[in-house]
Amino acid sequence: MKDLRLYDPFDKMQFSDGHCFLCGTTITSGQRTPVFASWLQQQYGLQDKELLLLDKSVTTFGNLTIPCCDSCQVNHIIPLEQEVEAAAQQGLAGLQALDEQKLFQWIGKMYYGTLVTELIKEADPLIRPEYAVSENPKMLGKFRSFYQVLQSLRVPMVFSGFIPCSLFLVEVNPAEDELPFEYQDELTTMAFSIKLGSVAIVCSLLDNGIIRKALGRFYKLTQGQQLHPVQLAEFKARVFYAAYIFNVVPEYFERPVKPGDEQLVLDTLIDDVTNEVFNPWEMQSYAHMLEEMLKPWSIRKEHLLPAPNQVLSFIANESGQFKPMEHFHKEAVLGKA
Ligand SMILES: [Zn+2]
Repeated sequence: MKDLRLYDPFDKMQFSDGHCFLCGTTITSGQRTPVFASWLQQQYGLQDKELLLLDKSVTTFGNLTIPCCDSCQVNHIIPLEQEVEAAAQQGLAGLQALDEQKLFQWIGKMYYGTLVTELIKEADPLIRPEYAVSENPKMLGKFRSFYQVLQSLRVPMVFSGFIPCSLFLVEVNPAEDELPFEYQDELTTMAFSIKLGSVAIVCSLLDNGIIRKALGRFYKLTQGQQLHPVQLAEFKARVFYAAYIFNVVPEYFERPVKPGDEQLVLDTLIDDVTNEVFNPWEMQSYAHMLEEMLKPWSIRKEHLLPAPNQVLSFIANESGQFKPMEHFHKEAVLGKA
């Protein structure tokens, strides 16, 4: 009979370099896997590129590794990375054709890799930081829910009628773009984006697809278009802001396993009675998020708010159609404010 039991490191807060991040097996200190796969590092020259961690310490993409047993490495991580690598070589079409559950696991591994690095540090009494995420019960509940569905990386799992995340794939105009690789994640809101060449994947990791539904019309506008990097920044701002005001944590329930079952089936529930699904979308704070994303172009918040309750869009015009943007001239777009 197949072992369909899930591992829960949050139960005993088992975060250490001596336990595989995916199955909990005891391992030696040399057994590790890179958070950012070797193919990714090679293709985009990330090895020595600096990466800021949650505790504000700096590491490199190449140095960020997490504890992983040989069996998980060989049977689960490497095959997944090979599959995503092959899809990514085919550009947008390849990634669109990839099973969404696979893409969720791939992004989830990178997100969890940075999270678990923090949790392992916090478990060390000598380093214990001032604001430990491991001491925030609400965050821990959320991480634990996320970890349940991330286990689909190891345990054959069917999500019954849902996908745990919202995934968005958009294409960036290579003629306007200077950055072959970009990466951003937010630990608490679980918003994530990664850009591989001309394809950007933006994701909200634990919303059961609700944000994609909410932004559906807007997302549709971007499909079949090559976005200017400024437009990608706006797209990310919308998804990241939606993740920020997303106010519920999905719960997941395992169906009882019967002898002979090959897969674990998970059902889900979102409690939208006790809490509103979203906190209100506030234009001022959304404009702030947009300003953050637009930092490379030094566009300030005051430029983005033509009227108190209106935020400038680089993607949609007044009638809600896609607004093509070939070149970005700050003055032409924003006026001389
Ligand atoms: Zn393992």
